[in-house]
Amino acid sequence: MSTRANPLWLKLLTPKAQLESAFEITPAWLADRNLRGLALDIDNTLAPTHLPGNEAQIRAWLEPLHQAKIPIRVVSNGHSNRILGFCQLFKLEFVGISGLRMAGKPIPNAFRRACRELGLPADQIAMVGDQIFTDVLGANLTGMYTVLVKPLSEKSMPHTKLIRNLEKLVLARLEHEKM
Ligand SMILES: [Mg+2]
Repeated sequence: MSTRANPLWLKLLTPKAQLESAFEITPAWLADRNLRGLALDIDNTLAPTHLPGNEAQIRAWLEPLHQAKIPIRVVSNGHSNRILGFCQLFKLEFVGISGLRMAGKPIPNAFRRACRELGLPADQIAMVGDQIFTDVLGANLTGMYTVLVKPLSEKSMPHTKLIRNLEKLVLARLEHEKM
């Protein structure tokens, strides 16, 4: 263990858990961590941005969560028509910042609203996403339990490639801090 305390910026960028995929999350996984609600990113977390077609996988994953009565909110920065269509398809509720059909991550407003709507303390809600600088940062600022997953699609927009490289630097630093 490093004897040096982590700087605040690194703490804010550090996920509580890292998983290969959001689809590993089950009611039992949540219960083991005293988590009672879910906030979800969509693009590259549940659905690859450029490829449709994992509807069956998403439905199969959601079913036991619904059965366990885990309340869910979608917190996405994605294009609003695409995300609203996704939410309708799976009967999920979307949370945006007031008056807008977007979440504005990492600004904490939509995360706070998700917590209010779910009616749970922030630390009992898992925010699941694939990006450190939006999903993890915003949810950590809100006090949620942050889960970083590997992006479903490797194909990224140019601006995302820069972010991915910055994320690699942060993840390498986190690995280094563990040693
Ligand atoms: Mg994403």
